[in-house]
Amino acid sequence: MSTAMPTRTADATDVRTLRNYVGGQFVEAATNEHLDVTEPATGALLARVPLSSAADLDDAVRAAQEAFPKWRRTPTIERARRMFTLRQALVENQERIARLITQDMGKTLPDAFAEVGRAIEMVECASAVPTTMQGRNLENVATNVDCETYRQPIGVFGAICPFNFPAMVPMWFLPFSVACGNTFVLKPSEQVPLAQEAIFQLIHDLELLPPGVINLVNGGREVVEGICDHPGIAGVSFVGSATVAKLVYERSARAGKRVQALGGAKNHMVVMPDAVIDKTVENIIGSSFGAAGQRCMAGSVLVTVGSAHDRVVPALIAAAEKLRVGNGLEKGVGVGPLVSSERRDIVRSWIDKGAAEGANVVLDGRDESGDNAAGAFVGPTILDDVTADMEVAREEIFGPVLSVVKVETLDEAIELVNSSRYGNGSSIFTESGAVARRYRHDCDAGMIGVNIGVAAPVAFFPFSGWKDSFLGDLHAHGGDAIDFYTRKTTVTSRWYSDGETGKFFVE
Ligand code: NAD
Repeated sequence: MSTAMPTRTADATDVRTLRNYVGGQFVEAATNEHLDVTEPATGALLARVPLSSAADLDDAVRAAQEAFPKWRRTPTIERARRMFTLRQALVENQERIARLITQDMGKTLPDAFAEVGRAIEMVECASAVPTTMQGRNLENVATNVDCETYRQPIGVFGAICPFNFPAMVPMWFLPFSVACGNTFVLKPSEQVPLAQEAIFQLIHDLELLPPGVINLVNGGREVVEGICDHPGIAGVSFVGSATVAKLVYERSARAGKRVQALGGAKNHMVVMPDAVIDKTVENIIGSSFGAAGQRCMAGSVLVTVGSAHDRVVPALIAAAEKLRVGNGLEKGVGVGPLVSSERRDIVRSWIDKGAAEGANVVLDGRDESGDNAAGAFVGPTILDDVTADMEVAREEIFGPVLSVVKVETLDEAIELVNSSRYGNGSSIFTESGAVARRYRHDCDAGMIGVNIGVAAPVAFFPFSGWKDSFLGDLHAHGGDAIDFYTRKTTVTSRWYSDGETGKFFVE
């Protein structure tokens, strides 16, 4: 999150420096400022990423503006076919990109492979534009007068992405935006830039898109603020922490752009006494400790109702203790490192804070020494006897830390969940249809799982939360993406030689 920006390098000349991609070429950024890109499992230096300047962004926006008129005239089916090719290239490179993600970000290789699978699914969904971009029409809105609504691309879109899904989150935006006929400028996370470098290189090598249709500008705050302010950018998609989401939302809106800003989360999982315990435990383990808790859909508060507590918590501790913590490239590892040693220290201090607030640390992941000493590791941690007023129950920790809160009734559980300032994802575990229905109806969250721990919607449904987890109205991917990346023009027409019409067109 914004508190965990990597430190600036003094002078590392023996590692390669990443380049931007502007107007169909990889180009050096016009900056002397760079950050280290490190492997969180080992601390090794992988590359240096430039902190590009406003001038670098301007070059990218200009290239995108120049490419737009021709790209929007390219037949829709042709744009869709480019997505078929991109899909195939990603499938063929899935393992390679997944390895880069694991090295750069830390999540385990199977998790990274699944992430690239989700990115591929986005491209598949975007390739449906010849159908999904269709407008609406109605004959005879008045005598011999017809009305047609067309969806049209708008221009240049910008996307600003977080570290935790370096392949998937940019693909929430790039394929939909480009398939709709827009051109695009991406700013990946400066902490994990390698996956997008690889994807842009693939697209470049295939000569898949005309120069300027997609552009990549590495960097941090200066590029983000430039994207918000730049008059050549029509709309902005942001994903990251709630604080920065608000900054981006307000700044982009002030500049007259359409904007969708997906922010942080504190996701609750409610377990009812009738839940199927072994399956529930499996789901909670994946949800809370997968990607070391660094998912916006991670379950971070377990709300047990009545007798569920004593059925689920001992089984959960036993299962979490068995998870192997280590380098995500190794087979059998269940929990990789946090993205950086700064984030490791922040997550450890959250566990200290929970203990100081009165939580019972029934599983403690603070001490990862031995083989894991050089990396950014925190083991699975469970805080029991947490109460709703504690900060560990309210604020996003973004690490493998699960807080357990006991309540007596479903009503109390819903009240607790809805008292959160966030409303991203939430899950309920029960075998009662009536309880599940009540929960999905009354729970203030944009994405709900019933007996599913990470209920991130598939590409053809919209993804996003409510409240402080999201600012804007159109969510990411699914049908919302087509609405976000197009504007509508409605044509009302009549032809005098084709018979009678009224004097006014409404007659
Ligand atoms: P972050 O907010 O620190 O960074 C996100 C982007 O904003 C990065 O590209 C970064 O360069 C930029 N940025 C950071 N600080 C900035 C500042 N002060 N001014 C301008 N730009 C700035 O988030 P992160 O640590 O990369 O990602 C983790 C966060 O993202 C978590 O809060 C997580 O919940 C959230 N997230 C949300 C979703 C969702 O769908 N709601 C999905 C993934 C991640």
